[in-house]
Amino acid sequence: MSFPIQKTEAEWRALLAQKGAEPLAFEVTRHAATERPFTGKYEAHWADGSYHCICCGAKLFDSATKFDAGCGWPSFWQAVPGAIVERIDRSHGMVRTETLCARCGAHLGHLFEDGPAPTGLRYCMNSAALDFDADNAARKEADNT
Ligand SMILES: [Zn+2]
Repeated sequence: MSFPIQKTEAEWRALLAQKGAEPLAFEVTRHAATERPFTGKYEAHWADGSYHCICCGAKLFDSATKFDAGCGWPSFWQAVPGAIVERIDRSHGMVRTETLCARCGAHLGHLFEDGPAPTGLRYCMNSAALDFDADNAARKEADNT
């Protein structure tokens, strides 16, 4: 699998540090680590806006598709079309669908088929792989008051 954005590990490490990403971000996105459940900053985060790849900034999810799966990780029932690619992951004695940023190949989490309607999907993500951006509309409203 090849991705439009290619960087060395050292370059990603430097970029994430420069962005102020949390320490786990590099291990999660580049080495497919998983943060502990109920520890991620977006697990119980319900503001309006969009979630972007912490590495390259690509928009991955809209807050309208986020739901409380009770699993301890931020979960979404739909991704932005084309933003995520899937790959079979046979690590840890399980067969799972791994999700990666289509633009830079960052590991994001896994995809399960036990989500709510209308898709029945559950994108189970690591907070450390995501960067939240508040809604433009919400921001405008805040500016006016
Ligand atoms: Zn990316």
